[in-house]
Amino acid sequence: MTLVDALPLIPVGGPTLPQERRLVTAVPGPKSQKLSRRKLEAVSAGVGVTLPVYIVAAGGGVLVDVDGNSLIDLGSGIAVTGVGNSAPEVVAAVAAQLAQFTHTCFTVTPYDSYIEVAETLNRLTPGDHAKRSALFNSGAEAVENAVKIARHYTGKQAVVAFDHAYHGRTTLTMGLTAKNQPYKNGFGPFAAEIYRAPTSYPYRDAGLDGVGAARRAITQIEKQIGADNLAALIIEPIQGEGGFIVPAPGFLPTLVDWCRANRVVFIADEVQTGFARTGDLFASNHEGIVPDLMVLAKGIAGGLPLSAVTGRAEIMDAPQVGGIGGTYGGNPLACAAALATMRSYETENLAQRAREIGAILTGRLNAIRAVDKRVGDVRGRGAMIAIELVDPVTGDPDAALTGRVVAAAHAQGVVLLTCGTYGNVIRFLPPLSIPDDLLVEGLQVLSSVFAAA
Ligand SMILES: *Cc1c(COP(=O)(O)O)cnc(C)c1O
Repeated sequence: MTLVDALPLIPVGGPTLPQERRLVTAVPGPKSQKLSRRKLEAVSAGVGVTLPVYIVAAGGGVLVDVDGNSLIDLGSGIAVTGVGNSAPEVVAAVAAQLAQFTHTCFTVTPYDSYIEVAETLNRLTPGDHAKRSALFNSGAEAVENAVKIARHYTGKQAVVAFDHAYHGRTTLTMGLTAKNQPYKNGFGPFAAEIYRAPTSYPYRDAGLDGVGAARRAITQIEKQIGADNLAALIIEPIQGEGGFIVPAPGFLPTLVDWCRANRVVFIADEVQTGFARTGDLFASNHEGIVPDLMVLAKGIAGGLPLSAVTGRAEIMDAPQVGGIGGTYGGNPLACAAALATMRSYETENLAQRAREIGAILTGRLNAIRAVDKRVGDVRGRGAMIAIELVDPVTGDPDAALTGRVVAAAHAQGVVLLTCGTYGNVIRFLPPLSIPDDLLVEGLQVLSSVFAAA
């Protein structure tokens, strides 16, 4: 080890980390490149990396890497660190729990924080009916359990997911996910009794309104499956990986009404949209819908792995005792983090903060769109905003341009993510703890690399 390697230059994370973009090496720098070579030798090649800078500290709106670069975080580790990285209240709650006990398995000898997380979710989620919750580790695991519970409750088997959907990468959830590359290719066979319906994609739907799009989906479901066979319909109220697609007004309420009339469980996958991200605590609230079951994860616990299914008591209570659970589900450290995180969402009015961030994002992005027709669409809600990049003449998706813009932003120290079925969407998911000036600087970098691309 050289002297430089040994220097203890690792800063403490959290909001006190200097909130600045600071590049002291190329991105990625030499230490990150060295780690990338180690990754190649040690980590499965199937585990991809968006931007190979290795992080040593993060907080507010920045990520600091091993080379000492401070990057602007416009991704929140995919919508996870809404309250910010190493948020002090989360750190304190987890540290206290760490000193008490780390694990018992809730289904062996339980503890109260699991119950308090369930009570909080039951209170915060839409609808004032009796609810129950169950806790898991990942979004995909929670989606699987929502489907299991819906099947048990209805005694039916079929599940409908939508075009452009993303629900995870386990066997059941790969089947629900729409996109082949990279999520499904070569990993079949997929689970049985999964069907796909057309969604509402206003930018590409040519005049079809929300109710019309819902009728189109319902007709297909009735003709191809039949409500008598359908246990559940699962949908993201705003599609995440599929391209931040906000359905036209009326689409979701029409689907909910049809589900209720046909004893089909309506599952809202709010893994990405949940917890203040969209400018309301849940995206379902924007449309006034009350899902039967909600799947929650990502933003729930300030970065610790936790997920949940919350929903109608009679549905959630249907499975036999022991049918639902797992070794780590509702781990005490994750529950402590979730309680601190959810308290912050409520007491610090982070939904309002998400709306402010959304106003900055849409203002700047629409200004780019006004002068550059390669930005075909600016869409999303709150701090979940995206641009869709297209050929200005044909309107065709331009994934190559998207890749160039994002790579150039990365080189300038701005962490940006892409998404979209056609790979032509840049999504903005900043931590809600990002200062305005840093967000604006990140958007200025985007604007300049876009003009140059
Ligand atoms: C990320 C995501 C999932 C999967 O969550 P994991 O924790 O990665 O398993 C499921 N649904 C949606 C909408 C997501 O964005």
